[in-house]
Amino acid sequence: MNSKAAQDTRSEAQVAARLSSIRVVLINTTHPGNIGATARAMKVMGLKQLHLVTPKTFPSADATAMASGADDLLQHAVVHDSLESALAGCSLVLGTSARLRSLPMPQMDLRKAAESVLAEHVGQDIAILFGRERYGLTNEEIQCCHQLVHIDTNPDYGSLNLAQAVQVMSYELRMAAVGESGKQVEPSDWVPVDAGQMELFYAHLEQTLLDIQFLNPDQPKRLMARLRRLFNRARPDQNEINILRGILAASQRAKKQN
Ligand code: SAH
Repeated sequence: MNSKAAQDTRSEAQVAARLSSIRVVLINTTHPGNIGATARAMKVMGLKQLHLVTPKTFPSADATAMASGADDLLQHAVVHDSLESALAGCSLVLGTSARLRSLPMPQMDLRKAAESVLAEHVGQDIAILFGRERYGLTNEEIQCCHQLVHIDTNPDYGSLNLAQAVQVMSYELRMAAVGESGKQVEPSDWVPVDAGQMELFYAHLEQTLLDIQFLNPDQPKRLMARLRRLFNRARPDQNEINILRGILAASQRAKKQN
């Protein structure tokens, strides 16, 4: 490597630091071998944080066998009984999907998504969700995401094996972290609130919409899903959430006084 290229790319320590805030979240995985293969896929690319939401079987000898030398990631894997718990503290949530959904979400191509992850403020936790082998992510899980990421594939056969999808995603994250020569992805200084705060906001929003009789509980249609998509696109910061919650509280007070 010449000295110019050496300056333009980051050191391994810098790459590791940039990747350390990224969680790979596997949801309800059926085959433990896929969990092991995921650990291996992550470790070769320098990712460390593996989170498992209600895996069918874990720990498991099959997972350890497939992890090969990455069993340290399995040992440190965090098992959760809900997605909410796996997303605690995360301010950016990406969902990976093999197909388009009935309520289309903003969908990014893989490389752009990896760059956007690396453009987050340093220290902000980021989650990337991977769905079940049989049917991917549910609509409720997708509603927790800011963006969907699709790995471009053969349109006639577009569903990757779970661990292979993690591999491709992890590779692109590493490439974005290393930085192409002369073009490094710099973190932004905008700090959106985390997933827990967004859930509190959505609960408050839903209650207010019920109070002011905008949301009909007998016929909710897809109102909350659409509103979640809107606010997830905006990714409010703390000040903005305070304003929105203030507006909701004022609407509730005004309704009570009527
Ligand atoms: N039949 C399922 C496929 C599940 S594959 C479906 O249609 O959604 C298991 C997981 O691997 C998916 O939930 C997703 O997280 C990931 N995956 C597979 N293929 C992908 C692709 N082309 N782009 C993005 N993620 C993909």
